[in-house]
Amino acid sequence: MKLTRKDFLKSSALLTGGLILPGFKFYNPFQEQTYKFTTIRNNIGIFTERGGTIGWYATNDALVVIDSQYPETAKNLVDGLKQKTPRKIDLLFNTHHHGDHTSGNLFLKDYTNKIVAHENCKALQEKNYGGNPEKPQAYPTATFTNTWGEDAGDEKVVARYFGPAHTGGDSVVHFEKSNIAHMGDLVFNKTFPFIDPNGGGSIQQWAFTLEKIIKHFDSDTTFIFGHSIADEFLTGTKKDLTAMKNYLSALIDFVSKEIKNGKTKEEIAAASAIPGFEDLKERWQGARKMNIERAYDELSKS
Ligand SMILES: [Zn+2]
Repeated sequence: MKLTRKDFLKSSALLTGGLILPGFKFYNPFQEQTYKFTTIRNNIGIFTERGGTIGWYATNDALVVIDSQYPETAKNLVDGLKQKTPRKIDLLFNTHHHGDHTSGNLFLKDYTNKIVAHENCKALQEKNYGGNPEKPQAYPTATFTNTWGEDAGDEKVVARYFGPAHTGGDSVVHFEKSNIAHMGDLVFNKTFPFIDPNGGGSIQQWAFTLEKIIKHFDSDTTFIFGHSIADEFLTGTKKDLTAMKNYLSALIDFVSKEIKNGKTKEEIAAASAIPGFEDLKERWQGARKMNIERAYDELSKS
């Protein structure tokens, strides 16, 4: 017999006499699973739950994980990966230092001996989250300056630093054989990005860095994005990188024009849209205003 949700609620009410006893957690088979594994191709895919998209490559010969979300969600990641391979994690990579990409290191460190990141990523993680006993950290065990690479099973994993952008230490991690690249938060796909000047981020540099990345990859590369407006846009193509770069340029152009028009920061931040990007949606309330304010601050400094 197939129970509808209504039938189920009725029968569970009968079972419990309509009461949920204190401390009794009723198992609800209709509750949606909160996390999701999606395969892209060649044993490479993404894991989504809370925080930045995790990339994975899982075979009997190698297990690579890119970014770690939070300890609770990293546990779900490990449980799911156990269905794919009996291996421990050969390599955990952090694309940048933000907490929604590195907090899960603390859980994953018992499943791996190797955490790699750009040298600025490690320094920023130490600076921003270090010394807080309430937020214990697990740091990269190896860092690099320009390029880092390692063979893993059938894959060649190559990480590159292209310059300051979303933070001062963003890596692009490329699975070369399958031509899939994890962009970390270098792209917020179809939505307003988080801009972090205190973490070494810069809107103008970000556009410039994306330009370099666009030139580096070919039109067959599939990209994984840290965040997007909806799950179906967490992967994409060079077109999405170009759209992100164009948005950042449009943001700077708009704000600098308004400054020249004599407008105040408050007046500019009240704008209802960035010209050319009227349809861009917010992932959180106030994202567009924040983008404009950070652009204003950046332009006032230079
Ligand atoms: Zn980030």
